[in-house]
Amino acid sequence: MSLRKVLVVAAHPDDEVLGCGGTLARHVQQGDNVHVLILGEGVMSRYDGRRKAKNADLERLRRATADAMKILGVQHLTFEAFSDNSFDRMALLDIVKAVERVKNKVHPHIVYTHHGGDLNIDHRLTLQAVLAACRPQPDDPVKELHAFEVVSSTEWADPSMDGFSPTMFVDISATLPQKLRAMACYETELRNWPHARSLKAIEHLAHWRGASVGCEAAEGFRVIRSIRKDA
Ligand SMILES: [Zn+2]
Repeated sequence: MSLRKVLVVAAHPDDEVLGCGGTLARHVQQGDNVHVLILGEGVMSRYDGRRKAKNADLERLRRATADAMKILGVQHLTFEAFSDNSFDRMALLDIVKAVERVKNKVHPHIVYTHHGGDLNIDHRLTLQAVLAACRPQPDDPVKELHAFEVVSSTEWADPSMDGFSPTMFVDISATLPQKLRAMACYETELRNWPHARSLKAIEHLAHWRGASVGCEAAEGFRVIRSIRKDA
């Protein structure tokens, strides 16, 4: 298979690993080019006005992301640094433009992003921005658009929201250890079992998604769009 260009659009640092870390490591192994765009800074909501503590946290989180990307082999990383949990106070167009800037540079064939039914408002608006930036107009490079699940947001949503049921699975049996090591870089974001954002829960979900389709471990995605030239 020829080299493919992959773009991940995540709302916060760690969403990219939780959502599709194992899949990204597989893309890299196959020789694909992977670019991760993280829109939000990931710490704002916890430190109202405590600028100094926030800056130190921000720096630590950025280092964690860089370390995690190194473990997965991801070649390109862009931070946008929008404030956390406040995408709804921004003009959607500004988020769309941020996605478009990277998209126009990368020309991705495959895009992974958030599920529209997540509890987190930033996740939901990220999907809206990606849908707007990846409108399937003639000559648009994006041929596959997939939504991932993020533990402690996707399954915590209002039950009346659109639930996540995966329609595409990527076998990550070989890369699950990399995903878990990458997630371990985000020490401040992890919680102890039985929290949904614990390493044990992340591992369980991977095995459950795998067992759902007859493999050791998998990541599940909702296919938003898949455009084929050939059957
Ligand atoms: Zn998030």
